[in-house]
Amino acid sequence: KGERLRLPEWLKTEIPVGDNYKTLKKSLRNLNLHTVCEEARCPNIGECWGGGEHATATATIMVLGDTCTRGCRFCSVKTARNPPPPDPEEPVNTAAAIAEWGLDYVVLTSVDRDDMPDGGAAHFAQTVREIKSRNSSILVECLTPDFRGDMEAVTVVADSGLDVYAHNVETVEAMQWMVRDPRANYAQSMAVLTHVKKRHPKMVTKTSIMLGLGETDDQILQTMEDLRKIDVDCLTLGQYMQPTKRHLKVKEYVHPDKFQYWQEVGDKLGFAYTASGPLVRSSYKAGEFFLKNLLE
Ligand code: SF4
Ligand code: SF4
Repeated sequence: KGERLRLPEWLKTEIPVGDNYKTLKKSLRNLNLHTVCEEARCPNIGECWGGGEHATATATIMVLGDTCTRGCRFCSVKTARNPPPPDPEEPVNTAAAIAEWGLDYVVLTSVDRDDMPDGGAAHFAQTVREIKSRNSSILVECLTPDFRGDMEAVTVVADSGLDVYAHNVETVEAMQWMVRDPRANYAQSMAVLTHVKKRHPKMVTKTSIMLGLGETDDQILQTMEDLRKIDVDCLTLGQYMQPTKRHLKVKEYVHPDKFQYWQEVGDKLGFAYTASGPLVRSSYKAGEFFLKNLLE
């Protein structure tokens, strides 16, 4: 228990927006897409959607509905045991909207659908195929659930023609039970990432860790080493922010210098890309990096 920590200066940010942001925002209104960027009021929206002259427009779109069958203690998505079935037209409509929207890089993500036999994998894969069939040059990242460790479901997504497979371990091993839904765990998430890399050795794999939940430096380092052992290419580290009073409290606002330190550790360990900073989120400027570096 105890008092809530005060928000440090480096997290009191104005959200900078540019012209491209305004254009994307305007066109979004007619498209019926749900972006995590807007719904989570992500502080990076100006950079991801706009940025400078040569910036790459990136957005994160939610598929499979807005209601999750799990309840992680850091996440404010609404939950239910039996959410409404997904809209079968969603893959086609999402793809059409994305093509019209003018993105360079799109992240598809979803709630966990433990109520569906395949966890929604076919729906995910269909969305990727529809996007690619309209515009093969748009890069697609899928940030997926763990599909309860069902590797057939993971395969369905991994084989869909996507460019980057992301799945988040969220936190260090010792804190999984406290932070994530009991159906999620460290070994299962590592197994998902391992499976994707074995099946498609050239596919870019990616994961994220939140800091500030009470994890130790040794535990963070261990997690990073574990991820390198299974050849995960990209890692993002960001500050955990408590979404409501009912969610886990922030234990520490990690200093930007410390994030910089982890960035350097990531580089030394050999990740192709480490993004580490208080405001970094899983998809933070992903397009910019991938278009410039990894996929050229
Ligand atoms: Fe959207 Fe992710 Fe960028 Fe935030 S970091 S604006 S959620 S793409
Ligand atoms: Fe949120 Fe994902 Fe956990 Fe569902 S599984 S509660 S969407 S973090």
